[in-house]
Amino acid sequence: MHPTSRRLCASLVGLIFAVTIAGSVAGGARWTGELQLTHGDDFRAGRSVADGLVLRTADSTYLLAFDGRGPRHLAGKRVTVTGTHSGNRITVSSIAAAGGTSDGGTTSSLTTAATTKRVAVLLFNFQNDTRQPYTPSFATGVMFNNANSVANYFAEESYGQYSVTGGVFGWYTIPYDNTGCSYSAWATAAKSAATAAGVSLSGYTNFVYAFPSASGCGWSGLAYLPGSESWNNNSMGLRTNSHELSHNWGVHHASTISCSEGGVRVSLSANAANCTASEYGDPFTVMGAAQTRHSHAEHKAQMTWVPTAERQDATSAGSYSVGVNEQSAASPKVVRVARAGATNQWFYLEFRQPFGSYFDNFAATDPAVNGVTIRLAADYATRTQSKLIDTTPGTTSFGDAPLAAGRTFTDPLSGVSITTQSVSSAGATVLVSFAGGGDTQPPTTPGNLVATPSGSTSIALSWSASTDNVGVSGYRVSRNGSQVATVSGTTWTDSGLAVGTSYTYSVVAYDAAGNVSPAASAVGTTGPDTQAPSTPGNLVGTPMSSTTAALSWTASTDNVGVAGYRVSRDGTLVATVTATSWTESGLSPGASYKYSVLAFDAAGNASAEATTVTTMLSADTEAPSAPTLTVTVNAKNGRTSLSWTASTDNVGVAGYRVYRDGALLATTTRTSYTLRKQSGTFTYYVVAFDAAGNVSASSNTATVTVK
Ligand SMILES: [Zn+2]
Repeated sequence: MHPTSRRLCASLVGLIFAVTIAGSVAGGARWTGELQLTHGDDFRAGRSVADGLVLRTADSTYLLAFDGRGPRHLAGKRVTVTGTHSGNRITVSSIAAAGGTSDGGTTSSLTTAATTKRVAVLLFNFQNDTRQPYTPSFATGVMFNNANSVANYFAEESYGQYSVTGGVFGWYTIPYDNTGCSYSAWATAAKSAATAAGVSLSGYTNFVYAFPSASGCGWSGLAYLPGSESWNNNSMGLRTNSHELSHNWGVHHASTISCSEGGVRVSLSANAANCTASEYGDPFTVMGAAQTRHSHAEHKAQMTWVPTAERQDATSAGSYSVGVNEQSAASPKVVRVARAGATNQWFYLEFRQPFGSYFDNFAATDPAVNGVTIRLAADYATRTQSKLIDTTPGTTSFGDAPLAAGRTFTDPLSGVSITTQSVSSAGATVLVSFAGGGDTQPPTTPGNLVATPSGSTSIALSWSASTDNVGVSGYRVSRNGSQVATVSGTTWTDSGLAVGTSYTYSVVAYDAAGNVSPAASAVGTTGPDTQAPSTPGNLVGTPMSSTTAALSWTASTDNVGVAGYRVSRDGTLVATVTATSWTESGLSPGASYKYSVLAFDAAGNASAEATTVTTMLSADTEAPSAPTLTVTVNAKNGRTSLSWTASTDNVGVAGYRVYRDGALLATTTRTSYTLRKQSGTFTYYVVAFDAAGNVSASSNTATVTVK
């Protein structure tokens, strides 16, 4: 919403409802005529602006001023007004339906006779703004000539009953500036300009006044509802023109209703205070948020295209067909159900299918063509907003609002339940039920309930069908007192149960009205576990040394669960483990062992064995080679340096031992050793050793004297 819209909306309301009427006539006077709603569409802000009520009599149009909002629900009806007037403004003291037939059409006048609507589009601009934002040819295309023209839109959605013809005239510059939004005066001036240019305006049923963007008008389009005039604020396209002409032809907006209870979004609430409406929310029609879609079935009825014979009132519980909205031959095209407990509220049901190339070309997956759409609205003769009900309140989008096959919508106020039983390209079938009123008879008890073990962890249930005066909607299955399933068929299998365990089951049937049968019950016991785990996979034995072996394998599977593994060596059980690996030590070097592993479960079922043969590494009995020793004495500092050649070994040299005069002097992994000065004569030798403790022969001996 932008601030401009808000400000101008307020100024327009002031224009229409100026209550202080200087020089008004004292005492009451009386007028009879058709009540029309004036109403502008601010699509960008998503709200209706410049609302007001006018009285159209045989010779004049009066702006009506009420104490309050006035009786909008009487729009389109013939009314008698009493009050005082000044000029063309009436301050209303009372208003009442007058009966009889009004020009705009009440229920009694809704017929399906083919009708030609002649629409004159007058293009005008202003003395301070002479822009021509599009050509007359462009407007002619939009209105009459394009494949997706307004004329083709109405021809298609009216099943050929409305033929829209006419012409585009202008541009004319009218003697007004575009400040403010004096749309009524502008219209009069545009007509005068056209007449002065030689255009005959007789014989037109509707006038569309189109002008360059006037920021003083906080709407894209404005129209009388019903009526013959609409205004187009630089919005020359299908949506605005079809929307405003539809207003002229008798329909209000397609809104949405969004409800929540306790912070949780619900489809509908018994308490109206829990719900809010979005004026243009309905995504399935140009009277809501759509750019191209047909009007919904209730609106089509209000525009006289769905005769009484093609409408059905569901007054008793049962199944009803809902024909395809777009198809001329379909019947009924709309089914409605009264909402008990509310005044003049009905649930209108319609069903659509992908149709044509431009307007109702829904994708095959669109929820609108895979479910029944439910709207809350007044009776056909009352021109107020319809409200789309979101039957999937778990998502905030209304794109998935329709009631898909197999699903049920229940109104908490009236207790009306609607179940979509099936949908097809030929239509939908719904089951309607009523709380208290219509259907109070529960289905019969399900028969012959049998609970049969299906393996060791499942139990299969079956029963014979219940019967019902209206229809069985489904069955609820409980296990040990807790509901575990809702099914439409007469069988169900409970799985994931404990082995060899008994369970008590009960099954009840229910109908669409919520009536529940007595319960059938049966006890079932799962079978014992006789199924062995699978054989452990990929058993591998690896010698880690001459005396240690490591085993590993992949896990077995079991219908209940693997309890563990048994490891045997050469036929003798050596370990029971729960992991998938095991290491054994204390084995004999160089020996070969046959290992086997099997899995077992809690019931004692054992798998086949996986086997492998593992050969230990040989023992190390081979000594390293003898090193060769060299000893030198540093003449300067008297230090003695020993160095020797590296020994070799079949496994590996672990280190060296240095001896002096037959006594162990040092142990090192290096191949050199240095001593501080110590006077005397000494004899040295070195041996190598390995990890297994094998010791080489002694190196050569070397004797040195330090002075
Ligand atoms: Zn509108």
